[in-house]
Amino acid sequence: MTNKLLTTFTKLATVTAATFLLGGCVIVDSDNSSSRMNQKKNIAAAADAPKNIIMVVADGMGPAYVTAYRNYMDDPNTVEVETTILDQILVGTSRTYPHQQSGFVTDSAASATAMSTGVKTYNGAIGVDINKQALETVLHRARKLGLKTGLAVTSHIVHATPASYMVANEARGNYSEIADSFYDDRINGEHLADIMLGAGWGHFLREDRNIVELFKADGYQYLDKYDQLSTIDPATPVLGLFGDASLPWALDDSDPLRLHTLTKAVVPYLAADTEDSGYFLLLEASQVDWAGHANDIASAMAEMHDLANTMEYLYDYVKNHPDTLVVLTADHSTGGLTIGAGGDYRWEPSFIKSFNKSISSMAKEIHDQANQGQYVSDSFGFELNAAEIESLSVINKDMDVRAVEAVLKSIVDKRTNTGWTTSGHTGIDVDVFAFGPGAEIFAGNQNNTDLAKKIFMLLDKAH
Ligand code: MG
Ligand code: ZN
Repeated sequence: MTNKLLTTFTKLATVTAATFLLGGCVIVDSDNSSSRMNQKKNIAAAADAPKNIIMVVADGMGPAYVTAYRNYMDDPNTVEVETTILDQILVGTSRTYPHQQSGFVTDSAASATAMSTGVKTYNGAIGVDINKQALETVLHRARKLGLKTGLAVTSHIVHATPASYMVANEARGNYSEIADSFYDDRINGEHLADIMLGAGWGHFLREDRNIVELFKADGYQYLDKYDQLSTIDPATPVLGLFGDASLPWALDDSDPLRLHTLTKAVVPYLAADTEDSGYFLLLEASQVDWAGHANDIASAMAEMHDLANTMEYLYDYVKNHPDTLVVLTADHSTGGLTIGAGGDYRWEPSFIKSFNKSISSMAKEIHDQANQGQYVSDSFGFELNAAEIESLSVINKDMDVRAVEAVLKSIVDKRTNTGWTTSGHTGIDVDVFAFGPGAEIFAGNQNNTDLAKKIFMLLDKAH
């Protein structure tokens, strides 16, 4: 059979599969109104199927982060609060709860597995169901259908979110096993992804197994510096690890818009030579979540700024490449961020706009400073007042770094009047954003599992 005939045959076969999947997609929606179900079904059936799909996960980005970022970016010289790219692409919301056995508050593994496979599972699960059985992910389906695949993240690449799209493991903390699976797992005899960008030296350059060398032996280009991204060969697969456990905080990185930079490299890479096949790409703004866990508003907004620039790039890209769908959502919210705190109707993000390093870096460096008050003023970009300088006097060399960070964050939270309710996750619904062909089927409130089901349907329909 010629390639063309084969493609036609595959398409005929998948149209039938898509019809069934579409039914599945709608029936599992917890909406009980049959007329509304039919309406949704019709919208889904009519959806244009994109050739390429870019899934973006902003880890931990609850709705308060989206509002906070709008306020943070506000031009104070105009009366209105200007909208951001995120406001312009909002289409719906997503219910984030995990499988019943883990209650109402999800972790990143269960939520990413829901979004990658369409199945609710327990917290900590990577691409497996509650019986620890491996599940097919949208990235796997894309691979099976002959699409190019890739990922780019700001955490290490075997962290919960990218891992849940790539492999299966009963526990997210089994990083060595997960890294092994990144190399060992094959689909149709091929590696899972054509390009993988992020951090992860510790998990790939191990004494017991050097996975970087294994990938190189299989023909992968290996990069470990951002500037090598400009020289990648689109005809050769790529493994790019630019840090150990993670890329630096946006506030500390030599490139504060590093997700944007990775995206500008990975999208043209995947788009090259995919005239017939198309591609599936996973992007993750991993560290919004870490800023939330740390209750660090300055880092949270810097991470959001990297994400927003990434989305601006993708928005412009889709204008010129109308065959590409982009979906952005969060896996859950983190930190219980509130815009205003303590009964005071005030939020002042202007104080976090001129930070020149992260609070975690400051907490490490502060012991070496002759004038700690001046050092903190210089790092924050605003002059501390006498009471704030006095509050630094509790810091000493024996203090835990987290305790030093807490002293610094307390100054920032009071200045900005930012509130936090937890150092963990919260169970609220999160925003869904989409543009490009098929974007309309992500409108309204949906389950996080529906995101996977809709992507499966679109993949089958287009390929
Ligand atoms: Mg304004
Ligand atoms: Zn988290």
